[in-house]
Order: sequence, then structure tokens, then C-alpha cells
Amino acid sequence: MKSEQDLNKLRHSVAHLLAHAVAELYPDTKLTIGPATPEGFFYDFLPTINFKEQDLPLIAEKMQEIADRKLPITHKQVPKKVAREMYKDNPFKLELIEGIEGDTVGIATQGDFHDLCKGGHLEHTGLLKNFKLLNISGSYWRGDRKGQPLQRISGTAFFTPKELRLYEKRREEALKYDHRKLGKELDLFSFKEEGPGFPFYHPKGTVILNKMLEFSRKRHQEGGYKEVISPIMLSDELWRRSGHYDHYRDNMYFTNIDERPFAIKPMNCPGAILIYDDHPRSYRELPLRLSEYGQVHRDELSGVLHGLFRARTFTIDDAHIFCTPEQLEQELEKLIHFTISFYKAFGFDDVMVAVSTKPKKAMGDPKLWEKATKALIDTLERAKIPYKIHEGEGAFYGPKIDFYIKDSIGREWQCGTAQVDFFQPENFDLTYVSPKGTKLRPVIIHRAIYGSLERFFGILLEHYKGRLPFWLAPVQLKILTITDEQKPYAQELLATLEKHGYRVIMDESANPISGKIKAAQLQQIPWMLVVGAKELENKTITLRHRDGKQEFGISFDDLLKKAEKAQK
Ligand SMILES: [Zn+2]
Ligand SMILES: [Zn+2]
Repeated sequence: MKSEQDLNKLRHSVAHLLAHAVAELYPDTKLTIGPATPEGFFYDFLPTINFKEQDLPLIAEKMQEIADRKLPITHKQVPKKVAREMYKDNPFKLELIEGIEGDTVGIATQGDFHDLCKGGHLEHTGLLKNFKLLNISGSYWRGDRKGQPLQRISGTAFFTPKELRLYEKRREEALKYDHRKLGKELDLFSFKEEGPGFPFYHPKGTVILNKMLEFSRKRHQEGGYKEVISPIMLSDELWRRSGHYDHYRDNMYFTNIDERPFAIKPMNCPGAILIYDDHPRSYRELPLRLSEYGQVHRDELSGVLHGLFRARTFTIDDAHIFCTPEQLEQELEKLIHFTISFYKAFGFDDVMVAVSTKPKKAMGDPKLWEKATKALIDTLERAKIPYKIHEGEGAFYGPKIDFYIKDSIGREWQCGTAQVDFFQPENFDLTYVSPKGTKLRPVIIHRAIYGSLERFFGILLEHYKGRLPFWLAPVQLKILTITDEQKPYAQELLATLEKHGYRVIMDESANPISGKIKAAQLQQIPWMLVVGAKELENKTITLRHRDGKQEFGISFDDLLKKAEKAQK
């Protein structure tokens, strides 16, 4: 079994291989950086003439050729002076060299190609054959949009051809069921030039989002949450105080009101904090779980926008739990169960959790850190939920857990997150009155389950391949008559179902029944109700499922019972 670390080494080595091929094919191209990523690898270039998608096969061919040379990959430290000389024509590498501490830098070499690098490679280029170049996109030097625009070639690599083929198959599936494509085919949402990165939800798409909200509201009510709404725009001073201004400014939109600077919220935290701080709180009120469906805006580069997966506005199913330090363990345990059972309702049974623990520099009582982290791990152990530990990767202000779900194509998505926060209660001087009448400091847990409601909608579409379950489908039932004779009967059926709150329509066209079935299937309607002469005579219906399965002779009452069961 190869570890994640081995895979990183492989992908890092393939990034060098890509740079090597580009350097041979286009010698005047400036190389910048090229790391391994969780998905594969990329390399950012400054070419003399922009690369096009059509160039990728040629580059990939050159990479295979270099792989076939089985060049040993070596790595050594060289004095900075030597490195500066090697890269005297490359301002990017020179800048990188200056940023490295010490008097030497690492250089990786294969054949006559070398690259600035910290190390961590496979032994020779012959081990790098199972890769695929995926696309070209725009990027910026050091990710700074005011910096030099560059071109990024991305790809992926695996140890075996079999793994690569599996990846390619998944990618094909993902393209086939791309939520942007399904959104258009099923008339759910659209994007328009008038609002780049700001989705428009059509009636059917809005039904789905509202169903997701309804489900979430019900669960939160049962879980003891109280819903709040905080403003979309808040004063600049508030964002400075919360720290968002310092850490998040580049992703925020600003405006002025009465000549006073304001920002559109990129997160909901300060709003919830101000609601908590509205009046003195007693220990009797804690834990206070304030939930909010908060629409946030984030200024994203146009190059990274990706349908509902990455948009410039979305709704976070946020909650801020204010509790006493003593309640923290129990709240975290509750939260884990709450989140896992939430995902199960959508058919995501495969949930993985990552726990980020205390970093070297951290605030808050170390004992509380330890207790909170232990509570997280114990809960995961007891519930037999697979988890990973990200040692020392927590934020300075508290431990964090991330929830990952696995979809039907086998992809993992990070959706939910829960972050313990010892900092903001200090920062905003939040208190509660203890049984003894003294003022004490609460702890905040920030958490989301969908993460972004709209992104989760996109994930659901791809997970179900457009075939949403009965309770979520924008149109749940469609009545199909065989001849006009059954129309009055069908209308009666329609009225009954509508009265019971189902989303039902009738095919009024003069098409033959096969055509009506086809049309309903294209729209991915879960249940078709076929009524012909026999059904009319017996006062029954034939229930035809989306997958073609049929149930004959169903009475009205039976149908209503079945439908009731299929609702959430
Ligand atoms: Zn390297
Ligand atoms: Zn928050």
C-alpha cells in the first residue's frame, strides 16, 4: 500500500517532469512553482506565447518520452550564490531563492534539467508514466491578482495504470453529470453575464433549495436551535474588530452608507455575536444555539468560479453555539451525531471526519483544549466514524473538525465544519452570569452542515445524477392518461394529490402514452401515474417509477400512503 506521502512524492515528481517537458519544447518559458495537490499537481508558467488546450497532447508526449529515458532524480543543497547564477534570467525563481532561509537552497536534477525544490522525489523518471494532463487555466504569481498573470497546467498522476483509469472513469462520469449541465437540462438555475458568479434560481431549483431549508429547519428545531437573521451589510469597524478585515479583506465587498464605510458580510459570526451581546445572559440560557441561514458574498477571482461549487454569493447554514466551558464536551458530542444523521437523510452514509488539533501557538486554557479534543475523538471512536488527525493544524483559537461525505462517483466533499473558538468571546468581551452571580466567559462553537446550501445542492445533483429522491424532486408526480376519456378521473386524482401538498402535474398533450412516459423520464420525475380504461373502471392507477418498475392496481388510498412514506 502506498501512503498519501508517497503519492505526494509521485505527483511532485510529475510536476518536475511537466516543467522538464515544457523547458525542452518551449525553452524561453519561465518556470515558477509546481506543487502536488490533493487532486494531482500543477505547474505555473510564464510562456512567450500562451499555451492552448491543443498543446497538451504534445507536452504529454514529451513527458512520456522523458519518463522513458529513466533519468535518475537527484537532489542536493547548493549555495544561494550558485542558485542565483543558475536562475539569473528567471525573476520568479530569484524571488523564491531570496525567500528561503539559510545560505543554501535545494536543487533537483534529472538529466540536464534542474528545478529549485525542497526535495521529496521518486528515484527516476521511469516511475512517472501514469499521469494525465487535465487543463490549462489562468493564475497569478503567488496567487495575488495584482501580480504577474501566469498560465497553470494541471494534471494528476497515480502509481498504477489501473488507478489512473479509475480516475479517468470517475472524471468522465463527473463531466456527464456536471451540475451546471443538469441545472440547464432540468431548468433549475442559470448564470448570466449580468451577474458573473451570482446564480439565478428558477422555480424548480427554488423548490429544491426550499425543501433543503425546510428539512434543515425541522432538524434544527428538534436539536434545540433558535433561528436568527443578521444583516447582510455591517459597519467596517465591526469587521476590523472581528479580525475579518485583516485576514479576509481581499475576499470582501465594500461600500459606503451615509459616508460611513461598510462591508457586505463574508461570514455570519459577528452578527450572531452582536445578538448574543444584546443583553446580559444568564447561565440558564446556555447552551444558546443560534442558527442562521446567512447569505454571504465573497469576492472570488473569475478564474476560480465553478457553477454552484464556487460562486460569489451563497447561503451558509450557520450556527453559533454559546456554551459554558463545562458544556463544551457534551455540545461537541451532540453536534457530531446531529451532523452525521443529517447527511444520512440524503443518502450519504460514508462520512469521514478530520480533527485538527492544537498548534504550537494557541490561546485558551490548555486543559480545555485537551478536553475538547478528547471529546471529539472519543465521540468518533464510540460512533465508529472513520477519522483522521491533522496534528497541530487547528487554528490558534480552538480545535476544529471537518466533515467529508463520499458521493456516488466516489468523490469526497468537505461540507460540514465545527470550530471551537476561545478568541471571539474574549475579543468581544462576551459574558454570562454564573449561579454565583459572577460574570464568566462563554465558549463559541461555529458550525455548518451543508456548508454552502447551494454548493450542497450541486453536490446532490451530481450524487443523484439528476434523479433527486421523491421528497426533494421539484415535480414529484406526473399523471399520464392513455385517452381523453380518463381526463375527468385524472383531474380528480390531481386535485386530491394537490390537496395533500404534493407537487404534481398532468400531461395534457395528445401524445401517445410512450411519448408521455419519455417526456416525464427526461424531466427525471420520480413517479408517473398512468390511467387508462382499466384503471378508470376499477378506480385504481398504475404507478410507474422512474427506473421503469411498475405497480398495478393501486388505490387512491394506497397511493397516498406510499407517497406519505416517501416524504421526509
Ligand atoms: Zn522537487
Ligand atoms: Zn462563525
